[in-house]
Amino acid sequence: MSKPLLKKLRPQTRLLKSGTAPVYQGGKAVNPPVVRASTVLFETVEELASMRARRNDERIFTYGARGNPTAFALEDAVADIEGGYRTRLFPTGLAAIAMVFTTYLKPGDHVLIADCVYQPVRHFAETFMRQFGIEVTYFSADGSDIAEKARPNTKMLYVECPGSLVYELCDMRSLATLATANGWLLVADNTWGSGLQYQPLALGADVSIMAATKYLGGHSDVMMGTVTTNEKAWQQLAIMTDAFGMTVSPDDAYLVLRGIRTLAARLALHEQHALKIAHWLRDRPEVARVFCPALPDHPDHAIWQRDCKGTNGLISFEFVRADQQVAASFVNRLGLFGIGASWGGFESLATIADMKAARSVTDWSNSGAIVRLHIGLEDPDDLIEDLTQAFTG
Ligand SMILES: *Cc1c(COP(=O)(O)O)cnc(C)c1O
Repeated sequence: MSKPLLKKLRPQTRLLKSGTAPVYQGGKAVNPPVVRASTVLFETVEELASMRARRNDERIFTYGARGNPTAFALEDAVADIEGGYRTRLFPTGLAAIAMVFTTYLKPGDHVLIADCVYQPVRHFAETFMRQFGIEVTYFSADGSDIAEKARPNTKMLYVECPGSLVYELCDMRSLATLATANGWLLVADNTWGSGLQYQPLALGADVSIMAATKYLGGHSDVMMGTVTTNEKAWQQLAIMTDAFGMTVSPDDAYLVLRGIRTLAARLALHEQHALKIAHWLRDRPEVARVFCPALPDHPDHAIWQRDCKGTNGLISFEFVRADQQVAASFVNRLGLFGIGASWGGFESLATIADMKAARSVTDWSNSGAIVRLHIGLEDPDDLIEDLTQAFTG
């Protein structure tokens, strides 16, 4: 069937049909295009049917709810930096985590979760997993009590390394050996490592999750989660992600792609500034302990040295005094640090870490008040002046 000629159409129709396929010669833009689409068009009914039949195994663009070419470009980039087989994208880091639990666990299963996880994981465990008959047990961040807490129906070991707030590390390689021997899936939240400073898949994890909201995006203007798997774990994730209609907008994918071009340069500066401030904090009389895995006195420093390529802008410190009001007044006096959740953007942030709420296996009832800092790209001497006036003010 020959298509009607555009010039014979009336103006109202021409508005819809003209300018839809620009014709030009020349080179190629540096960046992949932002392809906004719900409907995707095919030449024939047969072509649409054959593309649909192939899309479960191959990456084929058939409908906006199953991903878009901009998101595909980002998936490839993330799979590459994570050292994985393939990647899927989610609207937030937490949505990525929830999808992983939902994909690989079913009623009657038991999951072992590390004590140092990002706190909303506990909320998901309480509100969703327990309701759906999935048993949850928390284990010590170093993995030492896994053997005694494992059950015959254990299916997954869920870890975060280094952990949220005080950066406990586990020996991922030995956890991978244990998981393989028992037939458990080993899942790691790699938001801290951001694919550059730490690589759980290379150490034997099956699935690695990142909140791209943090360093990959890097500018506090986009939310996204990534799940990267090895080849064995891939099919199950792909099927379940499609079943739930999970994808991200091409505009958001574009922002994260833009962010990762400067990831190494930004991380190097975050690390350098954070280390300078960590060393400075150690000499303050108000400070009992500084938590940063790159410091030789961090309890898991040896593992960090062996398994990580560097650190990032996150450091936490414990006041000599337990009084939470002392920490709150300190944070309120800060001028350059924003008070807010999240981290990984270009800017410095401070929050109070409620360790009693964030841990259930380890006992933090006798510790001083703890503040978590995200050290941004500002001049660290300006940040030190700000911290000084907040301590003495
Ligand atoms: C922030 C964070 C998440 C969740 O990411 P969102 O995009 O904010 O949902 C998950 N894990 C860790 C370790 C995080 O710090």
